[in-house]
Amino acid sequence: MQFYSTRNPALRVSLREAVMSGLAADGGLYLPISLPAVPQSTIQRLAHFTPPEVAQLILRPFIGDELPDTVLQRISNEAFDFPVPLVKLTDNIGVLELWHGPTLAFKDVGARFMARLMGYFAEQFQQTLTVLVATSGDTGSAVAHGFYRVPGIRVVILYPRGRVSHVQEQQLTTLGDNVSALSVAGSFDDCQALVKQAFVDADLKQRVQLTSANSINVARLLPQMLYYWLAYQQAAAVGQPIIFSVPSGNFGNLTAGLMAKRMGLPVDQFIAATNSNDVVPNYLRTGTFVPRPSLTTISNAMDVGNPSNFVRLLDLYQHEVSAMRQDVVGFHTTDDETRQVIAQVYHDQQYLFDPHGAVGYHALQQYRATKPTPHYGIVLATAHPAKFAEVIEPIIHESVALPERLAQCLHLPNQASPLDNDFAQLKEYLLTK
Ligand SMILES: *Cc1c(COP(=O)(O)O)cnc(C)c1O
Repeated sequence: MQFYSTRNPALRVSLREAVMSGLAADGGLYLPISLPAVPQSTIQRLAHFTPPEVAQLILRPFIGDELPDTVLQRISNEAFDFPVPLVKLTDNIGVLELWHGPTLAFKDVGARFMARLMGYFAEQFQQTLTVLVATSGDTGSAVAHGFYRVPGIRVVILYPRGRVSHVQEQQLTTLGDNVSALSVAGSFDDCQALVKQAFVDADLKQRVQLTSANSINVARLLPQMLYYWLAYQQAAAVGQPIIFSVPSGNFGNLTAGLMAKRMGLPVDQFIAATNSNDVVPNYLRTGTFVPRPSLTTISNAMDVGNPSNFVRLLDLYQHEVSAMRQDVVGFHTTDDETRQVIAQVYHDQQYLFDPHGAVGYHALQQYRATKPTPHYGIVLATAHPAKFAEVIEPIIHESVALPERLAQCLHLPNQASPLDNDFAQLKEYLLTK
């Protein structure tokens, strides 16, 4: 299938081009030119498929002949090798836990698939790709783990020395192999500036094949449709209209859900759940989009004032707010409300939400207060609570144990190399290491 730029529907490229370039040449974001319907008969048989099989089924039309079936099968098996359970909270609320991957956050879903797809295209064209990322913590570790030991790819991660949490630093620096971490004497902004400079250095561009693997890549968006189908697979038996509440920052998560609905996923409604960074709920209410500088909250992976995927949302609904309102309703949640929800659900149901999942849960409650028609509400839980222990522990007055797969890296040696805040040093490293 071809992919078009949101800035120019006539600009069309192959999947490979869209994946390898990330952003379109005109600065637009790529979207598939169509969202083919999944046959009713397949939807009815969905319960019989494993997660990698469901992935192949829904992703096949977008791949066309750019990947052999056997390769799509291998990539799906490797990328989606962790469960996505729908946990019962009450009779009409389920929590879809998206955090069973290696870095305990839902970004693993997109990052693992993207890494393998890029690795395949790189090998196919006999390139060695260097993925260069600056991180303030979390995104970097999902990307690093996604690319870990993928042939044809090396990953170089820049992080601000002394300014990421101990767990985050261990996640980034202990992998080794094709993943190198550089601890920069500077801030996250300095790291980002170094990376940007690398991408515009003509000499470096000639000598090293650089790519950014950032969050707007279609190779991260497409696989995120998968978990909506997996949720339906587990919830269909309930026999009630399904509503998803989606904790949102850059809105890649929600965009993927809306694409799944276009392909025929039986969903009644999506809830765009934000923290105080509520530009999209405001747009849904007023019809006017007003980006703002981001506010800092306890659900910080959603602290986004100008969501990058908003242009994709607009495009999916032909820039008609009334059309978008048919599918999406927006609610925001304050930090105080988030804390109350974490405490209350832990007390009432013995279920521990992380701050992002709690925002999703609270939005569902707000929705219920306005629309009491019977339905089954599914809250997406996007991170494991242990990732936000410093927020959670004072709320529940208990300690939150780190899952084994994360605790392991705490005992491994930090393999980071130090780097001055100096582009010449970074360039030297990229050319010689
Ligand atoms: C990235 C992230 C989100 C927001 O997802 P978007 O696709 O940017 O809307 C929510 N929760 C967690 C834990 C995240 O890491």
